[in-house]
Amino acid sequence: MIPNTSAPVRTRFAPSPTGYLHVGGARTALFSWAFARHFGGVFVLRIEDTDLERSTPEAVQAILDGMNWLGLQHDEGPFYQMRRMDRYREVLAKMLAEGTAYHCYSSPEEVEAMRERQRASGEKPRYDGTWRPESGKTLPEIPADRKPVIRFKNPLDGEVSWLDVVKGQITIGNRELDDLVIARPDGTPTYNFCVAVDDWDMQITHVIRGDDHVNNTPRQINILNALGASLPHYGHVPMILGTDGQKLSKRRDAVSVMDYLDKGYLPEAILNYLARLGWSHGDDEIFSMEQMCSWFDLNHLSSSPAQFNPEKLAWINNHYIKAADNTRLADLVRAQMEKDGAQFEHAPELPAVIALMKERTNTTNELAEASMLFYRQPNADAALRQQHITDAVLPALAHYASACKTVEWNKAALSAMMKETLAQYSLKMPQLAMPLRLLLTGQLQTPSIDAVVELFGRDVVLQRLSSVA
Ligand code: GLU
Repeated sequence: MIPNTSAPVRTRFAPSPTGYLHVGGARTALFSWAFARHFGGVFVLRIEDTDLERSTPEAVQAILDGMNWLGLQHDEGPFYQMRRMDRYREVLAKMLAEGTAYHCYSSPEEVEAMRERQRASGEKPRYDGTWRPESGKTLPEIPADRKPVIRFKNPLDGEVSWLDVVKGQITIGNRELDDLVIARPDGTPTYNFCVAVDDWDMQITHVIRGDDHVNNTPRQINILNALGASLPHYGHVPMILGTDGQKLSKRRDAVSVMDYLDKGYLPEAILNYLARLGWSHGDDEIFSMEQMCSWFDLNHLSSSPAQFNPEKLAWINNHYIKAADNTRLADLVRAQMEKDGAQFEHAPELPAVIALMKERTNTTNELAEASMLFYRQPNADAALRQQHITDAVLPALAHYASACKTVEWNKAALSAMMKETLAQYSLKMPQLAMPLRLLLTGQLQTPSIDAVVELFGRDVVLQRLSSVA
């Protein structure tokens, strides 16, 4: 069979729920989504929920939430494997009838014993074909009271070969492959079989997934061939490595997409960052998803593993925070600030504060923290006050406070007032700006003092300077 080349593009993301959407999964989902979008195709979401212990409703929901947050909208699905059991049974029956699968009555102990023997004689352990029907062969008598598994009748000779869109030509000898169990004694189908049937039924044209699945592909190809299905193209994307060059680990790294929401990242930054982990478009680092969809191709997927770089992610997030609408950012930080005790009454509008503070913040969490400056009572450290609010500077502060009563309230006028005060008292900017910062905000690090004063507004400024007026 040759890959399906002329059919409209249909890709899929097929996560097994584990409790969270992994960043590696999100990246393959993004590639599959962008590829479908590029060709005006269809992106299918399929939940591989046959592991009943892990596939709790919450774990499934976590996948949907992650996809939703990222905006990776599926066109079809979500399909759930657990709801497709009748279909799998139907295909199993067809394969049994056509002779591409067979009942195997070898007990687990017998299978283990044959493996032991093979290992002992230096062979690769595999099912020895006891129950594999061949013409002219007499099968053993069916043991009483034993439920059979169903095995796939893998070709004995020849090889499976596919041009992997990421890794190039991959060829595996059929002798390397076992007669795979495709249904357990209780009739439930197994993983590789379900994936093959699903990809066939859902007419998937391009399977883009992590390279931890590369060993499954020849098995799935053989099953698809046995079913008379056309083959999708396969692309196996290398793993994402952590900063230490090791596989991302749940214990060490933030591997759940939603961790990044909690840490204050914007979804567009995560998508842009993930896009560049293993795919490139020239030297472009910052691009929108519209651009990505118009550029995305499989030729520029990298065949070497990409390393996670938190600094770069922070830089990209900073870019998107700066570009984001201030009202949207205000909505994102308000709850956090309320939790931190922000008092929003008699204080500047949050979006205006955001506009000033967002330049320097890498995450919305940092933005929330930085914006607190305007929403809490200043509580300067006594030692700092002593150091900066000296007798020498008090007359200038009093002058400034008094001028605040009548000055026109805009940045230009405030800035002129500041210059005039500095000149009159022969002070340098920090000599006046630092005490003003302490009095107004309780801290020494703030954006430009004129901007801070303007944002606070006349009433708050006069009130906070009253002790030196
Ligand atoms: N369910 C598999 C996983 O979560 C992916 C299967 C596939 O993409 O073929 O790793």
